[in-house]
Amino acid sequence: MGNILVIALVGVPLEQRLGTRRFALVYGIGLFGGSFAWYVFNLDSGNPSLGASGAAFGLFGAYLAGWPKDEIPFPLILIRKWPVLYLALFYFAMEVYRAYSTLGLNQASDVAHMAHLGGFLAAYLLLPLIAKNGPYLLGVEDGGPTSSSGERSRLNQIRSTMVDMSNIVDPWTAKGLEIPRTIRDSLRSLLASADEPETRLAWMEHLAEAAKCPDCQANLGVVERISGPQLQCSVEPEHLNWPE
Ligand SMILES: [Zn+2]
Repeated sequence: MGNILVIALVGVPLEQRLGTRRFALVYGIGLFGGSFAWYVFNLDSGNPSLGASGAAFGLFGAYLAGWPKDEIPFPLILIRKWPVLYLALFYFAMEVYRAYSTLGLNQASDVAHMAHLGGFLAAYLLLPLIAKNGPYLLGVEDGGPTSSSGERSRLNQIRSTMVDMSNIVDPWTAKGLEIPRTIRDSLRSLLASADEPETRLAWMEHLAEAAKCPDCQANLGVVERISGPQLQCSVEPEHLNWPE
């Protein structure tokens, strides 16, 4: 559960910072760095170690090396936005303490603290190499990809490239079909008030749930494109891909 929490809350903004491939590389380094550290510190143990803990701590290490001032929502004492710097150092200090007390008592620990630290350090040290030529400069201070200003600039970006829907024909009418009764109102609202990306996306998602593909009756989905959200047939995008 702890690993899932970290991977979800820290991993998502870090992936936005790094892009998918670089993020996958960081994850792998944390994973193997963690396993390697476990091996070194447990040479007498017959148990192999393979787990997401090193990878989860690796995300902290990488994020700390790259964008320590990003603020991400995290349940640490309180659920609120915390700077990555605090979160990463807090987790690191906790693990040093736990690893030390485990070694001191010479007890096997159920949680591989050494793996956590190994993953953290490996990712921290290698991040500058990995992030080279990536989407964001190291140490850039804009509050982080999930901050309100980052979100606002993302929405402005979508708004400037979004297709105009005020003079567009809905897909049912375009195919000479009657608009299903269940979606008539939301379709009208979408066409009338969808010059804001958030509103357009919300109405699109509503339509996708309430309607079926006009060609094959399959479920619909919403895809986010640079031209704004698109309604698509989940089986064959050629059936419905609107607005084009
Ligand atoms: Zn279809």
